[in-house]
Amino acid sequence: MAALASWRLSLCAASDKHPTRSPVLVISLVQISQIELQLSNGATNQSFIIISHINHFMNQYLPLGKFSFGMGDRFAHQGKAQLRACVLATELGAEFIPVWNKSNREHTFIGTEPSSLRAEADDAVKALNWKKSYHVDADHIRLETVDRFIAPSDFFTIDVADSIAKPAAAADVKAFVERHPELVGKISIPHIDRPFEISRAEVERVANKFLLAVQDAGKIYTHIVAAKGAANFVTEVSMDETDSPQTPPELLIILAAIADQKIPIQTIAPKFTGRFNKGVDYVGDVKQFEQEFNEDLAVIAFAIAKYGLPPSLKLSVHSGSDKFSIYEPMRKALKKFGAGVHIKTAGTTWLEELIGLAEAGGDGLEIAKEIYAYAIEHVDEFCAPYASVIDIDKTKLPPASVVNGWSSKQFTDALRHDQKNPGFNPSFRQLLHVSFKVAAKKGDRYLNALKKHEAIIAKNVTENLFERHMKPLLLGK
Ligand SMILES: [Zn+2]
Repeated sequence: MAALASWRLSLCAASDKHPTRSPVLVISLVQISQIELQLSNGATNQSFIIISHINHFMNQYLPLGKFSFGMGDRFAHQGKAQLRACVLATELGAEFIPVWNKSNREHTFIGTEPSSLRAEADDAVKALNWKKSYHVDADHIRLETVDRFIAPSDFFTIDVADSIAKPAAAADVKAFVERHPELVGKISIPHIDRPFEISRAEVERVANKFLLAVQDAGKIYTHIVAAKGAANFVTEVSMDETDSPQTPPELLIILAAIADQKIPIQTIAPKFTGRFNKGVDYVGDVKQFEQEFNEDLAVIAFAIAKYGLPPSLKLSVHSGSDKFSIYEPMRKALKKFGAGVHIKTAGTTWLEELIGLAEAGGDGLEIAKEIYAYAIEHVDEFCAPYASVIDIDKTKLPPASVVNGWSSKQFTDALRHDQKNPGFNPSFRQLLHVSFKVAAKKGDRYLNALKKHEAIIAKNVTENLFERHMKPLLLGK
């Protein structure tokens, strides 16, 4: 603990002397606080080991702030309105580091290049004079898609879900199990009531299921390091787009494997229990989610100390946006553990664009109605790629002829995610969420409407992120 205290003092002094370097130093200070918390929670490592692993990781990755917020922006016009939400949250003492994310799939659908997202983020940061850090996330990339993301991105979500359940080489599995005798038997983890009981056969089973995926992550990570330099980016590993959730004991074994690959992982996105449909609330057992989320936090704190992973390692929740009913249990758990989190939202900012257009009335409302009319004609086509992350009740979708007669209020009531509004229609919302290609096809006509109605759209974009997401997550309602 004494070593930590002197490390803290030297950082504080350095921070005073070099104010321009402060963001990194401040993050290091946050990391020290996290380590202190781990020690007080019963982590047994000697402080010199922890200091040596801080030293080991200094300059080996770009540090990520404690709370970070991933935002998608399909048409790249709302960066400032999104950043404004981070400004408002920070003013209230709930600092969220903005991360703009866009996947390869989205870029391909819309016909944009990753460099456009970097330009948008830089513009927004300049316009709002944002002095804290910010990132551009190459979301859900793989080895075959990463290259065009390398220059403009400084956050990489390495998606290895496709390799889950494909077995690694038998010799590698055997070596892994032999290297990790500590994973076999009774494992007591602070804040988890019942110790994990893991048999050798179970470690083997989990290794067979996940080791190849982790090895893939190692290959992609190494590829990015070679092109970009280790100190210049944040690494996330995502396993959320798969069939079954990973249990907390599986997460522990996965983290041991990631440490073996020497990936300085700062966020990990497991698949949680329950359904995370796009743009609507959580569907599942909230109590069970809460227990799993708490145990995952405990496992992460334990694995940081045990395997020398970066102290800033935290969960990344690929929320698909709007998981309002789990925000309160998450907020409590994060507070209890002193943990950070990365919340990745989906591209629901595009729905706020539609809401703003509808609210504007006139030609704005007209475009919103046209998009719905086209979408309902192509329900099956638009829903197919998202089958596992939407639940649309087709009988609840109003025909275009009805929607064409709607007022601005009827349209926004149906679309805006306000569960207390009797006009809210989750099927209508989900269909529009996956129908952004219709707007993309309209090209300049859609983009010009965004410019024309910028003020009313921006207000909806900011309010949505700040009021419905950031406030409940960090401040409580
Ligand atoms: Zn995801």
